[in-house]
Amino acid sequence: MDILNLLRQKRECKHTKVSQQEDFAYCPDCGELIENRWYIARCKCCGIKVKAIYKGGKVISQEKFCHNCGGQNFEPEQVSNINCIDINYAVLVKTVVTQETEETTQSWFEMPTGNTTKLLTQT
Ligand SMILES: [Zn+2]
Ligand SMILES: [Zn+2]
Repeated sequence: MDILNLLRQKRECKHTKVSQQEDFAYCPDCGELIENRWYIARCKCCGIKVKAIYKGGKVISQEKFCHNCGGQNFEPEQVSNINCIDINYAVLVKTVVTQETEETTQSWFEMPTGNTTKLLTQT
């Protein structure tokens, strides 16, 4: 088991087999619980939506400058219910979640709630 864990940590898994259709799913390659999170980027100046990309562990805007106002400050915004309009702007971030309450051995099959999850890839 220890060797397996070591191997898991050494290999950076992109969780490519996790379906986009699920909110939460276990990655068949590494066994981590993955949450599918969609983000768009929004101009801080005029508030318009711009296309988001995921780079260096962060959600950033695809363009350097806002096409509407010329501003260059954007902030990521999580989209809880992705729709066909937002999906054109959105980027999917496969976030590894861990359960902090390890004593609940009986509930391993349950989906964690927002209170019991911790983001590993935040910031
Ligand atoms: Zn994985
Ligand atoms: Zn703008």
